[in-house]
Amino acid sequence: MNKVIKLHRRAARRPAGRMAPKPDRPPRSEAENAVRTLIRWAGDDPDREGLRGTPARAVRAYEEWFAGYNEDPRDYLKRTFEEVAGYDEIVVLRDIRFESYCEHHLAPIIGRAHIGYLPRTRVVGISKLARLVDVYAKRLQIQERMTAEIAGCIESVLKPLGVAVVVEAAHQCMTTRGVHKSGVTMVTSRMLGVFRTHPETRNEFLAALNLKPRDISVES
Ligand SMILES: [Zn+2]
Repeated sequence: MNKVIKLHRRAARRPAGRMAPKPDRPPRSEAENAVRTLIRWAGDDPDREGLRGTPARAVRAYEEWFAGYNEDPRDYLKRTFEEVAGYDEIVVLRDIRFESYCEHHLAPIIGRAHIGYLPRTRVVGISKLARLVDVYAKRLQIQERMTAEIAGCIESVLKPLGVAVVVEAAHQCMTTRGVHKSGVTMVTSRMLGVFRTHPETRNEFLAALNLKPRDISVES
């Protein structure tokens, strides 16, 4: 263990979300009728041939896009490996592509998440971290909260010495409407434990992502 680890101090964190709150789910027919209404609101006729099957398809698509409400992200982190053979460096998984949906416009948010952590004793399979991102992404989101939720969940379940999460994404509510700015990506980050307290650890993570320390602001 190096001195970075010894100097670690835990920041106070709010608990990570478990299952998302589940309000009463309407019957499928009600959801399909809502799509019919939106088609009419757009200015078209939901009974014309090309649109007749659309409400049913759209509702099925919603089941995929919002599958994250049916899963507990913590489940993916429960199976861990303790055989780390003395490995005490940071683990970085980068470029985890995700699709999410902005909770203000229901428009897609498409981007990549990067996760780093410094294991205390346990490591998790890398595919599980990608799954974790998906559970949070497949919900109505704002990018800032999704970033914090991913970091908070890893911290509370794995209890590593530190967690770093950076999310880069394009918001289609911004590219296809409103200000119509394409090519803009938003970058959010959450640094916990040693990634917050130790600039050198944080910078090692950012360097693995080809990001500069000035790209990310970290309050201490
Ligand atoms: Zn939006």
